Amino acid sequence: MPISKILIANRGEIAVRIIQTCRRLNLRTVAVFADADRYAKHVEMADEAYYLGTTDLADSYLNIEKIIKVAKDSGADAIHPGYGFLSERANFAQALENAGITFIGAPAEALRLMGSKSAAKQTMLQADVPCVPGYQEEDQSIEVLSQAAKKIGFPVLIKAVAGGGGKGMKIVHQANDFTNQLESAKREAMNAFGDDHVILEKYITQPKHIEVQVCADTHGNVVHLFERDCSTQRRYQKVIEEAPAAGLSDATRTDMLNAAIKATQAIDYVGAGTIEFIMDGDDSFYFMEMNTRLQVEHRVSEMITGIDLVEWQIRVAQGETLPLKQTKIQAKGHAIQVRLYAEDPGNNYLPSTGLLEQINLAQTENSLVDSGVRTSDSVTIHYDPMIAKLVVWAKNRPKCIREMQKILNHSAIFGVKSNLAFLSQILSSKAFAKHNIFTNSLDNDEIDLSQPLHSAVIAIFAHHLLQNQYDNQAWHSANGWRLQGAQSLQLKFTYQDTTHEHVVNWENGEYLIDGKDHYLPQTSDLCHVHRNQVQVVHNNLRYELLLPDYEAKASASNANEILAPMPGKIIEVKVQQGDAVELGQTLIVMEAMKMELELKSQRDAVIKSVNHEKAEQVKADAVLIELE
Ligand code: ADP
Repeated sequence: MPISKILIANRGEIAVRIIQTCRRLNLRTVAVFADADRYAKHVEMADEAYYLGTTDLADSYLNIEKIIKVAKDSGADAIHPGYGFLSERANFAQALENAGITFIGAPAEALRLMGSKSAAKQTMLQADVPCVPGYQEEDQSIEVLSQAAKKIGFPVLIKAVAGGGGKGMKIVHQANDFTNQLESAKREAMNAFGDDHVILEKYITQPKHIEVQVCADTHGNVVHLFERDCSTQRRYQKVIEEAPAAGLSDATRTDMLNAAIKATQAIDYVGAGTIEFIMDGDDSFYFMEMNTRLQVEHRVSEMITGIDLVEWQIRVAQGETLPLKQTKIQAKGHAIQVRLYAEDPGNNYLPSTGLLEQINLAQTENSLVDSGVRTSDSVTIHYDPMIAKLVVWAKNRPKCIREMQKILNHSAIFGVKSNLAFLSQILSSKAFAKHNIFTNSLDNDEIDLSQPLHSAVIAIFAHHLLQNQYDNQAWHSANGWRLQGAQSLQLKFTYQDTTHEHVVNWENGEYLIDGKDHYLPQTSDLCHVHRNQVQVVHNNLRYELLLPDYEAKASASNANEILAPMPGKIIEVKVQQGDAVELGQTLIVMEAMKMELELKSQRDAVIKSVNHEKAEQVKADAVLIELE
């Protein structure tokens, strides 16, 4: 039965991306939304949109009954689940089959098998696909597990059988730590997935994450769309992905692509999927897991092959054979994707929520932007804080890196904090140029990401101010700059939490910084300014300066409450009732999303009350402290 109307059971960039292909194929689209998404981009773009419920996931994007009802009410004949949410839930695929709605995804049985890390590994071992040496049996007694760990040899990685998104993984370096780490891994797994079964794996110390995109139809055809390197990770989460994998020998590539096809065939897979491998320093590679859905990073494979994977998914779901045979699928050039996140580099990269006051994402003829948000939308605590994916294609890798740098240089985000500067640093690093990045390099601080302020940066900012002739009202020291005569500027700003004061003069065709350094801004230098936020781009690096902000100060000084920015646990209360505190002083430390978060006073104040104690769990927006 041909599909003519598709419900997209997802939100954000992936819903938008799926709708784009549907439009091109003249298929009607149905969006669904929760409270926080009433005015979201995916809702606006779809032909029809239906309300699901509150931001509680169980009431909206994870509510199978409600989604099936909307599909029936709207007359949708198929559902695309995107990634995350219901995309890998076997019971969802089964429920759709029972309801007579086509699931644009993997067969329920494949979802079930690959959803368990132990079942997946056992299946692959049987099919003769190389797997990371380890233990993946049923017996979970401490004795058996610690014996198995010893046999594997330390370091050992403990993984939750039901795990995903890098959660519930623990590295154990020596036998003494094993029992402790095992208990903690089991606790975390129970909390996160309601299942405390684990597997053990040899911990690969210089690992590259290389994965193969596959696609299969219901007629027994299986093809690959080459590989992607996703080794640039932080906390086991991918940050930058590229295709093809640089530095991979032809022989290893061929072996890996063949192993991926074998793995796909072994489970009678249908649809688009990804076989993830981990590669060791000696080029040996092992099956890690299969993702039975479209991946966030599928765009880089599309760019090198010219294939639209969402179109292929739809064709396969309506029973067609794959549009191309393996020999007709060619890889051309190089593609890189960066994941742009709303997160705070100054605060352990915790999600940065709030209003996207301005979002400006550059594009070239060979690039694309996948984004579910626009200027004036908000990043909330309810969903993943990804703002966009920026993807670019070029003839070869060095060119592709340069193109991506250009795109990042010309993009700017204001309102929430973002990882733009971090992405630029990685792309400019020697390690990235030499594709010498392993999945743990960023976590192990192996790449120098320090970025001291440069006098050129000060000159570029001064140049921007002088050239743009800010109106006279603004030329005021309270805003961080003061004009002294026509060609001299006094500047005051903070960079990486340190206050800077400088005098810049325009002399002999150059800027003179503090009477010492000379610099004349180049055309590649850029300065993005929004209110008190300044982003200077120099040598492909981004420097985020903060000016004193009248408006922010005014509103902050009115705030009498310190709120929990996200759900979490109080780990330290640093003040008590009656204490006098200063602007910027840490009042309380929370643990949220496995990270520590310091909550600081936004003004000088006296503590009126402390409402929560150490070790208490708090909800988002809970009033932790009140100020006089
Ligand atoms: P999840 O399902 O939680 O994403 P994966 O099994 O896909 O977990 O692993 C996520 C990441 O963890 C990998 O991309 C890799 O960086 C790291 N990793 C996984 N297994 C190993 C291993 N055996 N040795 C070293 N690193 C590993």
